[in-house]
Amino acid sequence: MRAALDRVMGAARRGGLAVLDGLLPPHCLACEERVTEQGGLCAACFGGLHRIVAPLCDRCGVPFAHDGKGEGGLCPACLADPPAFGRARAAFAYNEAAARLVLPLKHADRTEMAALLARQMAEAGAGLLEGADLLVPVPLHRGRLFLRRYNQAALLAARLGRLAGRPVLPDALRRNRRTPSLGPLGAAARRAAMEGAIGVSPRAAPRLRGRRVLLVDDVLTSGATAGACAQALLAAGAAEVTVLAAARVADPREDRRDALTPDRPPPR
Ligand SMILES: [Zn+2]
Ligand SMILES: [Zn+2]
Repeated sequence: MRAALDRVMGAARRGGLAVLDGLLPPHCLACEERVTEQGGLCAACFGGLHRIVAPLCDRCGVPFAHDGKGEGGLCPACLADPPAFGRARAAFAYNEAAARLVLPLKHADRTEMAALLARQMAEAGAGLLEGADLLVPVPLHRGRLFLRRYNQAALLAARLGRLAGRPVLPDALRRNRRTPSLGPLGAAARRAAMEGAIGVSPRAAPRLRGRRVLLVDDVLTSGATAGACAQALLAAGAAEVTVLAAARVADPREDRRDALTPDRPPPR
């Protein structure tokens, strides 16, 4: 009975019935544990999040496991093969706790997660937001957009734009074709898969020329998608492209044993 009531209440809250907020006890956004404030996380869910802090690669934002900096402040992957974007930052390392915030936004219509994530992103990416003229979300393919009804990156961009007082161009980029899942692919294959997959909409092009664009995504994985977006924006005349994500996985371009990952110490 109690569980059923909690489920109904959870559904009501997720349905955006704001009028009920005053009547329902607030719950953790990630696990339904009771909390003191609406729209927040319980101590356990919050404690599981790994905020990304220095030291990190100045370019791609991958955290270094040691106290020193890489050569010139860059990770080996950026030294060997710099990405098209200038700098990328993310609020959290992508782990189980971060997935509990990001996946419901992507797959379960939990759009209220966007507010929480955008606040964290605004903090982690304060410098990037300050230096940006406008925000552009990473696009979904139209077929996927139809199924999901919203683009989670666009929700985050809209929230961030409001928080930082920056205009958002939600349809500036578009997918020209469907792309395979990049997960199992190596770096070169990922780049090949994304080649020409993303373009700038002709209507948006004049608004991008000479502007500093901040690209927004939910999860930064290999950087191949962000790189393809950055290339398209730069080709359309953007002066600079930076990237801000809610979470990032430890750089999978680095699949060597001695990769610098958040959890693995560097070799002696
Ligand atoms: Zn929780
Ligand atoms: Zn890097």
